[in-house]
Amino acid sequence: MSPPDLQLPLPAGPAALSVGRKPAAQHARDLGVSVEAVELCRATDLIDLHIDTFIPPRLWGYDPRARHDGWILGRHFFGHLDLPRMRDAGLSGAMWSITTNPFRSADARWRTFQTNLERLGALVRASAGQLMLAPTHAAYAAARAAGAHAVMVSVQGANAWEAAPRGAATLAEDSVVRATLVHLTSSCYGATSSPHSMLRRDKGLTPAGVALVQQLNAQRVFVDLAHIHPAAFWGAVAAHDRSQPLLATHTGVTGARPHWRNLDDAQLRAIAETGGVVGVIFATNFLSRPGGPRDARMVLEHMEHIIRVIGEDHVAVGSDYDGAISPPAELGSGDRYPVLVQRMIDAGWPTARVEKVLGQNFLRCFAALRPGRAGAAAPG
Ligand SMILES: [Zn+2]
Repeated sequence: MSPPDLQLPLPAGPAALSVGRKPAAQHARDLGVSVEAVELCRATDLIDLHIDTFIPPRLWGYDPRARHDGWILGRHFFGHLDLPRMRDAGLSGAMWSITTNPFRSADARWRTFQTNLERLGALVRASAGQLMLAPTHAAYAAARAAGAHAVMVSVQGANAWEAAPRGAATLAEDSVVRATLVHLTSSCYGATSSPHSMLRRDKGLTPAGVALVQQLNAQRVFVDLAHIHPAAFWGAVAAHDRSQPLLATHTGVTGARPHWRNLDDAQLRAIAETGGVVGVIFATNFLSRPGGPRDARMVLEHMEHIIRVIGEDHVAVGSDYDGAISPPAELGSGDRYPVLVQRMIDAGWPTARVEKVLGQNFLRCFAALRPGRAGAAAPG
């Protein structure tokens, strides 16, 4: 979604920081899953390739440091994640997305992006060490070792930088980890997969879009093909440096459910050929099919289709929590990743496969593209 960019200060209120997390047995009881599922989530690298938890603080001052139970709209749209629930679930890292209102002027988008980047950094600094920026694989490992949740700064809609003096090359080397080329609207870079693309005749990647891909490659920022129109998708694949892993961070697949938001098998293969990964979204409206499961198994159906087409080394989790989605009820809160893992166990997935999907597959890409220096502290 594209929220208004309200310039609210971060809430200064009492530091409602988590002082530990629920014992695994209690969390398992609360979720109705096995202790094994909870302990697996907490022991392994659990990384979500797309969360929008930076949107609610901008919209109404939601403080992601405090526990939020009982959101007014239930599991719908926002309020899925906060630090205590991340800790209960064992979410060791996530791509925190910065989304910029596309209907602002290019200059205003660039200014707002810079402000939001600073504000996300301020949130990390105000977390008493529970959040750490992780622009590289080494920084992720340092955050994990410190028991912090690793924040990988990401951008949804690279047109936030349209007016940046040198485009994506303007970005500091250690800031943004990945960017979707477009979001729900088409832009100077190319067409979106959403119905908004009907507004333009040429659905491909524009020359500016080609230059953007090249800039991202030069910066070693992940090129994220979520949200892009198929014609522009193939333009991006052609422009992209094949030695770098491509991502589609939050998507479904047409092999499980035909939908404009989902990727087809040829698109999956193009991502796998670069060694990249595909994160499966938790949004019911993109995943569910007539007669299909209504619970977390609908996420599994999409993951299993990806595994059938390109193997188990190229699938990941990309929930889109807090991004105006409606997840299945049993995934309705961000402390419920163990429910998805319980469904994997019930489906007979070996532990090694579960761990690949939860984090190892993405970490392989992260180590390849942005290794960083071992022992180097993440810049604050
Ligand atoms: Zn999105």
